[in-house]
Amino acid sequence: MPESPPKLAHAEVHYRATTLFRRCYNCGHLQLPSACELVEDPIRAEDTCDRWTEMDMLPRRRRRREGPSASPPPAAGPGTDPSAA
Ligand code: SF4
Repeated sequence: MPESPPKLAHAEVHYRATTLFRRCYNCGHLQLPSACELVEDPIRAEDTCDRWTEMDMLPRRRRRREGPSASPPPAAGPGTDPSAA
């Protein structure tokens, strides 16, 4: 199995405190509870960096949250046809 590349230092990505919306807690790279797949520890949910990425911009398999569309629709069967009523 290939090794993961080394994580980036805080200085390389301008890791910093913020009061804006884009924070680690809503970044697609956050690995709960307090790690990042790109940047070295420590990571705090209320901070941010230049690599912040919206969760929906990452492939589905990497998302931490699944929306309702992730569930398959219920299977049709006897008694489920609304026009039969
Ligand atoms: S904002 Fe930066 S440090 Fe924080 S989770 Fe995202 S990539 Fe990692």
